[in-house]
Amino acid sequence: MREPRRRVPAVGVLALGVLMAACGFFDRGASPADTPDWAALRERMVRTQIEARGVHDPLVLEAMRKVPRHEFVPEGVRNQAYADSPLPIGESQTISQPYIVALMTELLEVGPGKRVLEIGTGSGYQSAVLAAMGVEVFTIEIRSRLCQEAARRLDSLGYHTVHVRCGDGYAGWPEEAPFDGIIVTAAPERIPEPLLDQLAVGGHMVIPVGAFYQELKVITRTPEGFSERSVIPVRFVPMTGEVERRD
Ligand code: SAH
Repeated sequence: MREPRRRVPAVGVLALGVLMAACGFFDRGASPADTPDWAALRERMVRTQIEARGVHDPLVLEAMRKVPRHEFVPEGVRNQAYADSPLPIGESQTISQPYIVALMTELLEVGPGKRVLEIGTGSGYQSAVLAAMGVEVFTIEIRSRLCQEAARRLDSLGYHTVHVRCGDGYAGWPEEAPFDGIIVTAAPERIPEPLLDQLAVGGHMVIPVGAFYQELKVITRTPEGFSERSVIPVRFVPMTGEVERRD
Protein backbone atom coordinates (compact mmCIF):
# COMPACT_ATOMS: atom_id res chain seq x y z
CA MET A 1 0.00 0.00 0.00
CA ARG A 2 1.35 3.36 -1.01
CA GLU A 3 1.75 5.99 1.68
CA PRO A 4 -0.12 9.16 0.79
CA ARG A 5 2.41 11.88 -0.07
CA ARG A 6 3.06 14.14 2.89
CA ARG A 7 2.47 17.76 2.09
CA VAL A 8 3.78 20.67 4.11
CA PRO A 9 0.71 22.63 5.02
CA ALA A 10 0.65 26.10 3.40
CA VAL A 11 0.20 27.69 6.78
CA GLY A 12 3.50 26.08 7.90
CA VAL A 13 5.38 27.66 4.97
CA LEU A 14 3.88 31.01 5.79
CA ALA A 15 4.88 30.73 9.45
CA LEU A 16 8.45 29.83 8.45
CA GLY A 17 8.60 32.85 6.15
CA VAL A 18 7.36 35.18 8.87
CA LEU A 19 9.91 33.74 11.31
CA MET A 20 12.76 34.19 8.82
CA ALA A 21 11.71 37.77 8.11
CA ALA A 22 11.51 38.48 11.85
CA CYS A 23 15.05 37.17 12.28
CA GLY A 24 16.28 39.50 9.55
CA PHE A 25 16.95 36.68 7.07
CA PHE A 26 15.78 38.75 4.10
CA ASP A 27 17.04 42.08 5.42
CA ARG A 28 20.44 41.92 3.78
CA GLY A 29 20.85 45.70 3.68
CA ALA A 30 21.20 45.76 7.46
CA SER A 31 23.74 42.97 7.80
CA PRO A 32 27.19 44.07 9.02
CA ALA A 33 28.86 42.69 5.88
CA ASP A 34 26.96 45.24 3.76
CA THR A 35 27.49 48.29 5.97
CA PRO A 36 30.10 50.55 4.37
CA ASP A 37 33.35 50.97 6.29
CA TRP A 38 32.72 54.64 7.04
CA ALA A 39 36.05 55.17 8.83
CA ALA A 40 37.98 53.81 5.85
CA LEU A 41 35.97 56.03 3.47
CA ARG A 42 36.72 59.04 5.70
CA GLU A 43 40.42 58.22 5.78
CA ARG A 44 40.50 58.04 1.98
CA MET A 45 38.53 61.32 1.74
CA VAL A 46 41.09 63.08 3.95
CA ARG A 47 44.08 61.75 2.03
CA THR A 48 42.89 62.13 -1.54
CA GLN A 49 40.62 65.18 -1.38
CA ILE A 50 41.97 67.28 1.47
CA GLU A 51 45.65 66.63 2.22
CA ALA A 52 46.39 66.19 -1.47
CA ARG A 53 45.04 69.70 -2.11
CA GLY A 54 47.20 71.30 0.55
CA VAL A 55 45.22 71.42 3.80
CA HIS A 56 47.79 70.52 6.46
CA ASP A 57 46.53 71.75 9.85
CA PRO A 58 46.65 68.54 11.96
CA LEU A 59 43.69 69.64 14.09
CA VAL A 60 41.53 70.10 10.99
CA LEU A 61 42.61 66.79 9.46
CA GLU A 62 41.93 64.95 12.72
CA ALA A 63 38.45 66.48 12.97
CA MET A 64 37.67 65.56 9.35
CA ARG A 65 38.75 61.98 10.15
CA LYS A 66 36.48 61.86 13.19
CA VAL A 67 33.17 63.51 12.28
CA PRO A 68 30.67 61.02 10.76
CA ARG A 69 29.64 63.03 7.67
CA HIS A 70 27.21 60.26 6.67
CA GLU A 71 25.09 61.13 9.74
CA PHE A 72 24.60 64.67 8.39
CA VAL A 73 23.21 63.84 4.93
CA PRO A 74 19.78 62.46 3.99
CA GLU A 75 19.33 58.69 3.83
CA GLY A 76 19.04 58.74 0.02
CA VAL A 77 22.57 60.14 -0.55
CA ARG A 78 24.28 58.50 2.41
CA ASN A 79 26.41 56.27 0.20
CA GLN A 80 27.88 59.42 -1.39
CA ALA A 81 28.65 61.10 1.94
CA TYR A 82 32.42 60.90 1.42
CA ALA A 83 32.41 61.78 -2.29
CA ASP A 84 34.31 64.80 -3.59
CA SER A 85 31.20 66.95 -4.02
CA PRO A 86 28.50 68.96 -2.26
CA LEU A 87 25.25 67.08 -1.53
CA PRO A 88 21.61 68.14 -1.19
CA ILE A 89 20.31 68.39 2.40
CA GLY A 90 16.69 69.37 1.57
CA GLU A 91 14.95 72.71 0.99
CA SER A 92 17.26 73.33 -2.01
CA GLN A 93 20.25 73.72 0.31
CA THR A 94 23.54 71.83 0.24
CA ILE A 95 26.27 70.55 2.52
CA SER A 96 29.61 71.78 1.12
CA GLN A 97 32.19 69.55 -0.53
CA PRO A 98 34.52 68.07 2.16
CA TYR A 99 37.56 69.95 0.80
CA ILE A 100 35.77 73.30 1.07
CA VAL A 101 34.75 72.54 4.68
CA ALA A 102 38.36 71.65 5.55
CA LEU A 103 39.80 74.68 3.74
CA MET A 104 37.41 77.15 5.39
CA THR A 105 38.05 75.58 8.79
CA GLU A 106 41.83 75.89 8.31
CA LEU A 107 41.50 79.52 7.20
CA LEU A 108 39.75 80.36 10.49
CA GLU A 109 42.98 79.49 12.38
CA VAL A 110 41.20 78.47 15.57
CA GLY A 111 41.76 75.72 18.12
CA PRO A 112 40.61 74.43 21.51
CA GLY A 113 38.89 77.00 23.71
CA LYS A 114 38.19 79.47 20.86
CA ARG A 115 34.70 80.72 20.05
CA VAL A 116 33.34 80.81 16.51
CA LEU A 117 30.15 82.24 15.00
CA GLU A 118 28.73 80.37 12.01
CA ILE A 119 26.01 81.76 9.73
CA GLY A 120 24.20 78.94 7.86
CA THR A 121 24.03 75.84 10.08
CA GLY A 122 22.49 73.70 7.29
CA SER A 123 23.05 70.09 8.30
CA GLY A 124 25.27 71.01 11.26
CA TYR A 125 28.32 69.29 9.75
CA GLN A 126 30.60 72.36 9.67
CA SER A 127 29.69 73.07 13.31
CA ALA A 128 30.50 69.48 14.26
CA VAL A 129 33.94 69.73 12.61
CA LEU A 130 34.72 72.86 14.63
CA ALA A 131 33.37 71.28 17.82
CA ALA A 132 35.59 68.24 17.22
CA MET A 133 38.55 70.65 17.32
CA GLY A 134 37.53 71.85 20.79
CA VAL A 135 35.90 75.06 19.52
CA GLU A 136 32.71 76.47 21.06
CA VAL A 137 30.32 77.19 18.20
CA PHE A 138 27.42 79.64 17.95
CA THR A 139 25.52 78.84 14.76
CA ILE A 140 22.45 80.44 13.17
CA GLU A 141 20.14 78.91 10.54
CA ILE A 142 17.32 80.81 8.83
CA ARG A 143 15.23 77.80 7.71
CA SER A 144 13.39 76.48 10.71
CA ARG A 145 13.10 72.85 9.61
CA LEU A 146 16.84 72.57 8.84
CA CYS A 147 17.59 74.42 12.06
CA GLN A 148 15.55 72.10 14.26
CA GLU A 149 16.89 68.99 12.55
CA ALA A 150 20.49 70.17 12.91
CA ALA A 151 20.01 71.02 16.59
CA ARG A 152 18.56 67.56 17.27
CA ARG A 153 21.27 65.82 15.25
CA LEU A 154 24.15 67.68 16.93
CA ASP A 155 22.68 66.95 20.34
CA SER A 156 22.14 63.25 19.68
CA LEU A 157 25.69 62.88 18.31
CA GLY A 158 27.07 64.51 21.46
CA TYR A 159 28.29 67.86 20.08
CA HIS A 160 27.29 69.76 23.19
CA THR A 161 29.57 72.77 22.59
CA VAL A 162 27.47 73.84 19.60
CA HIS A 163 24.72 76.38 20.33
CA VAL A 164 22.07 76.54 17.60
CA ARG A 165 19.79 79.53 17.04
CA CYS A 166 16.96 79.60 14.49
CA GLY A 167 16.60 82.88 12.59
CA ASP A 168 18.32 85.33 10.25
CA GLY A 169 22.06 85.50 10.90
CA TYR A 170 22.39 88.98 9.38
CA ALA A 171 22.67 90.62 12.81
CA GLY A 172 25.00 87.94 14.19
CA TRP A 173 24.83 86.99 17.87
CA PRO A 174 25.74 90.25 19.67
CA GLU A 175 25.26 88.87 23.22
CA GLU A 176 28.12 86.43 22.66
CA ALA A 177 30.43 88.74 20.67
CA PRO A 178 33.32 89.22 20.06
CA PHE A 179 34.18 85.96 18.26
CA ASP A 180 37.67 84.59 17.57
CA GLY A 181 36.42 83.57 14.13
CA ILE A 182 33.32 83.96 11.96
CA ILE A 183 32.42 81.54 9.17
CA VAL A 184 29.61 82.24 6.73
CA THR A 185 28.45 79.29 4.62
CA ALA A 186 25.89 81.09 2.43
CA ALA A 187 26.95 83.87 0.05
CA PRO A 188 25.90 87.51 0.49
CA GLU A 189 26.64 90.05 -2.25
CA ARG A 190 28.09 92.30 0.41
CA ILE A 191 29.47 91.49 3.85
CA PRO A 192 26.93 92.30 6.60
CA GLU A 193 28.25 95.17 8.73
CA PRO A 194 27.08 93.69 12.09
CA LEU A 195 29.20 90.57 11.49
CA LEU A 196 32.35 92.66 10.98
CA ASP A 197 31.59 94.44 14.26
CA GLN A 198 31.46 91.09 16.10
CA LEU A 199 34.90 89.89 15.00
CA ALA A 200 37.65 90.09 17.65
CA VAL A 201 40.92 91.87 16.84
CA GLY A 202 43.25 89.26 15.32
CA GLY A 203 40.29 87.09 14.29
CA HIS A 204 39.40 85.97 10.76
CA MET A 205 36.07 85.95 8.96
CA VAL A 206 35.84 83.32 6.19
CA ILE A 207 33.04 84.16 3.77
CA PRO A 208 31.98 83.57 0.16
CA VAL A 209 31.05 86.92 -1.42
CA GLY A 210 29.21 87.57 -4.68
CA ALA A 211 26.09 86.73 -6.65
CA PHE A 212 26.69 84.14 -9.36
CA TYR A 213 30.48 84.44 -9.36
CA GLN A 214 31.69 84.27 -5.79
CA GLU A 215 35.10 84.57 -4.16
CA LEU A 216 36.01 82.92 -0.88
CA LYS A 217 37.43 85.76 1.21
CA VAL A 218 39.30 86.02 4.46
CA ILE A 219 38.75 89.28 6.36
CA THR A 220 41.13 89.84 9.25
CA ARG A 221 40.48 92.39 11.98
CA THR A 222 43.61 94.37 12.78
CA PRO A 223 44.02 96.97 15.54
CA GLU A 224 43.62 99.62 12.81
CA GLY A 225 40.70 98.15 10.88
CA PHE A 226 40.30 95.22 8.46
CA SER A 227 42.46 93.54 5.82
CA GLU A 228 41.02 91.36 3.08
CA ARG A 229 42.25 88.67 0.71
CA SER A 230 40.61 86.43 -1.87
CA VAL A 231 41.38 82.70 -1.73
CA ILE A 232 39.53 80.85 -4.52
CA PRO A 233 36.37 81.13 -6.63
CA VAL A 234 33.49 79.20 -5.02
CA ARG A 235 29.79 78.47 -5.48
CA PHE A 236 27.54 78.65 -2.40
CA VAL A 237 23.78 79.01 -1.98
CA PRO A 238 22.80 82.68 -1.53
CA MET A 239 22.49 84.25 1.89
CA THR A 240 18.83 85.21 2.23
CA GLY A 241 16.78 87.45 4.54
CA GLU A 242 17.75 90.97 5.61
CA VAL A 243 20.93 91.04 3.48
CA GLU A 244 18.82 90.87 0.29
CA ARG A 245 16.94 94.04 1.28
CA ARG A 246 20.14 96.08 1.69
CA ASP A 247 22.21 97.56 -1.12
N1 SAH B 1 27.36 74.79 6.84
C1 SAH B 1 26.32 73.93 6.35
C2 SAH B 1 25.97 74.13 4.91
C3 SAH B 1 25.27 75.39 4.74
S1 SAH B 1 24.26 75.60 3.32
C4 SAH B 1 26.64 72.47 6.60
O1 SAH B 1 27.72 72.15 7.12
O2 SAH B 1 25.78 71.64 6.29
C5 SAH B 1 23.87 77.28 3.69
C6 SAH B 1 22.83 77.46 4.75
O3 SAH B 1 22.74 78.85 5.03
C7 SAH B 1 21.45 77.00 4.33
O4 SAH B 1 20.97 76.05 5.23
C8 SAH B 1 20.63 78.29 4.37
O5 SAH B 1 19.29 78.08 4.77
C9 SAH B 1 21.40 79.12 5.37
N2 SAH B 1 21.18 80.58 5.30
C10 SAH B 1 20.99 81.36 4.19
N3 SAH B 1 20.83 82.65 4.55
C11 SAH B 1 20.91 82.69 5.91
C12 SAH B 1 20.80 83.73 6.88
N4 SAH B 1 20.55 85.01 6.54
N5 SAH B 1 20.95 83.41 8.18
C13 SAH B 1 21.17 82.13 8.58
N6 SAH B 1 21.27 81.09 7.71
C14 SAH B 1 21.15 81.37 6.39
